[in-house]
Amino acid sequence: MYFLRCISKRYSIWLGILLVAKAVGITAVCAEPIVSNVRMWEHPDKTRFVVDLTDKIDFEIETLTNPYRLVINLATVNWQVSSTGVRKKTGVVQNWRNGHFDYKNFNYRIVLDLSGPVKEKVMLLAPAQGNRYRLVVDLMPSTSRAMRSKPAMEPIRNQRNTSRPFKTIKFAAPGRKPEFVDGPQIVVVIDPGHGGMDPGATTNSRIYEKHVVLVIAKAFKRRLELNPKYKVYLTRNKDIYIRLRRRIAIARKNKAVLFVSLHADAIKSKNIRGMSFYTLSEKASSKEAAALAEKENRSDLVAGVKGTESDDVTKILIDLAQNRSMGESSKFARYLIKSFRSTAKILPNPHRQAGFAVLKSPDTISVLIELGFLSNPADARALTGKSYRERLSEAFVDAVVSYCNQPNAPCSAGLEELN
Ligand SMILES: [Zn+2]
Repeated sequence: MYFLRCISKRYSIWLGILLVAKAVGITAVCAEPIVSNVRMWEHPDKTRFVVDLTDKIDFEIETLTNPYRLVINLATVNWQVSSTGVRKKTGVVQNWRNGHFDYKNFNYRIVLDLSGPVKEKVMLLAPAQGNRYRLVVDLMPSTSRAMRSKPAMEPIRNQRNTSRPFKTIKFAAPGRKPEFVDGPQIVVVIDPGHGGMDPGATTNSRIYEKHVVLVIAKAFKRRLELNPKYKVYLTRNKDIYIRLRRRIAIARKNKAVLFVSLHADAIKSKNIRGMSFYTLSEKASSKEAAALAEKENRSDLVAGVKGTESDDVTKILIDLAQNRSMGESSKFARYLIKSFRSTAKILPNPHRQAGFAVLKSPDTISVLIELGFLSNPADARALTGKSYRERLSEAFVDAVVSYCNQPNAPCSAGLEELN
């Protein structure tokens, strides 16, 4: 079982032998079907997208408009397709991406970006002449209205018992049991941006924002929880996509006082480096801040989440409590800037404001930190190294503790106590 799971594309000849073994009655059970290839080509009347699999699989197809996308949700798979060289534009498919994604019973998602509206025909074909299973999606031209009004497809259950039950991510990592704590713990939620099929900012040297911020978030948590007064939850603790609204819900569910979203940017100019700190505002403090918020808010779009998500979040804005948490968020941002200044390079006017969807929780003090620029070699080197990470963690803890230690700080009392 383990052996099969670890087969890579290079050893496909071995896979062939195993499949033959299977055919002659030696059961080679694989826990997760392997996706060995993804192919597509253009016909006169349709574009065909094919996923090659070693076994049957549960799947579901969704179509989305504005922009046009087709989403393939899969049960747990072992993805063995090399990610380079296969994503060139074919027919109506402009681009496609893949990644882990927790959604109902599905754990994996492929999103196709389409040039226009389509209707789809989907087949799961059994092996023919020793071939592998093929999930075939044919895309034919359609109209925008037809695509919008199409009822959602019922999930197709095919697997025997290879599908893992829906796995909720455990946010409450066990951690150390605090021994001497006066009063309730102060809850901090750290949100590593992006994840799964949304890599965030990327560089030519294959540094992904989603990986960089996850490692740093874990370091911040570890360091802050050395203080038994604090309890830290991460919105994700592995490489998986979490929709923006859910990130906020995690903070609220855990009654977080502080919510810190971690990001790193990449831009054309390689010379620019340094940290910046963002709080929520309906009116952006600069053109750059507005553009950055728009970029970060695209996360749900990248992962093929329906467009209504951030609209819902926008409605929360009307809450009165928002004003109070916005004032405290700015104050917390100033504590962060002061503390990080001793360790890191900070951009001019480091406190900026814009309409970041992930900061729109009405009752949580929320700040988004852009840790630096992956496009700058010095920042990229620092952000992926251990010693800088540890220094950043120390500065983060200093900021949180000194903010919460102010007289009348809203940390333990919660925002209800604020006047
Ligand atoms: Zn980001």
